[in-house]
Amino acid sequence: MKYKFPFKCHSGLVPKLSQGFGESSGAAREFYIKYGYPTFHYGIDFYLGNNTQGYGSELINTFTEPTVIRQIWWDTPMATHGNGIAFSNGIYTVKMWHCSEIIKQKGNLAFGETVALMGNSGATLPPATYGQPFNGTHCHLEVWPNATGDRINPLDVFNINDLIYGKDTGFIKDIPPFQWAINGLSLMLQKLKTLLGY
Ligand SMILES: [Zn+2]
Repeated sequence: MKYKFPFKCHSGLVPKLSQGFGESSGAAREFYIKYGYPTFHYGIDFYLGNNTQGYGSELINTFTEPTVIRQIWWDTPMATHGNGIAFSNGIYTVKMWHCSEIIKQKGNLAFGETVALMGNSGATLPPATYGQPFNGTHCHLEVWPNATGDRINPLDVFNINDLIYGKDTGFIKDIPPFQWAINGLSLMLQKLKTLLGY
């Protein structure tokens, strides 16, 4: 049995995988080599629409067991993974990276609860620029079995069919346009502040 894919997508947009679990390829691989990182990709990357449109969409907990948030990381100067969160159901620990916001604090997590918002913090491709602040928006998702500590393919744990076919799993969510506009504006202001150094 697999868990539901831990993501709510904006209606009308098609979620895609840009990197699977395994040897990396394309621009990501070139990037890893250039900066001396391992070329093996220990998770999956997924995004929405044109690689900017997923910004602010909700990453959720779909574990059915009692789940606890173990760790939260905010972007640090040396971080390549940006803002991240880790939560565990006692069997697996899930890590989600490059978030724009971490919604939850450490503690218990309910099924279906939003933990973070998709973003492009840390090193993402293509990198965000002044004119394109949402470039490279995606989520890097890792699954660490608690028993071994070695990362496994998240698609062995989460049902990818929920994601790539956009089936109504109960997690495809219509965000009202006004809310989307407000979220977008406030996120854009934050980005602008960051860019201007305030
Ligand atoms: Zn990745």
